[in-house]
Amino acid sequence: MTLKLCQGPACHQYITKDRLKGPAGSKTYQTRRRSTMYYGKGNFCSLNCQNDWWELHGDNAVDHFGRLTEPKHLTEENAWEKRYDWSSDHETRYVYVNGITNEQRPLTREQFNDSNYTLNER
Ligand SMILES: [Zn+2]
Repeated sequence: MTLKLCQGPACHQYITKDRLKGPAGSKTYQTRRRSTMYYGKGNFCSLNCQNDWWELHGDNAVDHFGRLTEPKHLTEENAWEKRYDWSSDHETRYVYVNGITNEQRPLTREQFNDSNYTLNER
């Protein structure tokens, strides 16, 4: 199993026992190495480290991958949202609601639970 290094630019500066490594007399605080990390798609050991990276590189990353200059639009054709009506007792519990027109269409439980089933045009 290979260990990954946390990509946090200041990971080694957080004073914790688990980061202190090396032989007696020449110990250093080091970037964390883990087989699994839970933040930033497995790239960061903590939310602090993820936030540090974002603080340092976020603007450059957004510019690199394309900064939005115009608002995006969600149109009527793609504004369908699955909803579950807790107050209803019958088959119409599961509905698709259009967020723009407020039109409702009944859904079966299977359609509701099927993440591939959609009225949106994608
Ligand atoms: Zn870290």
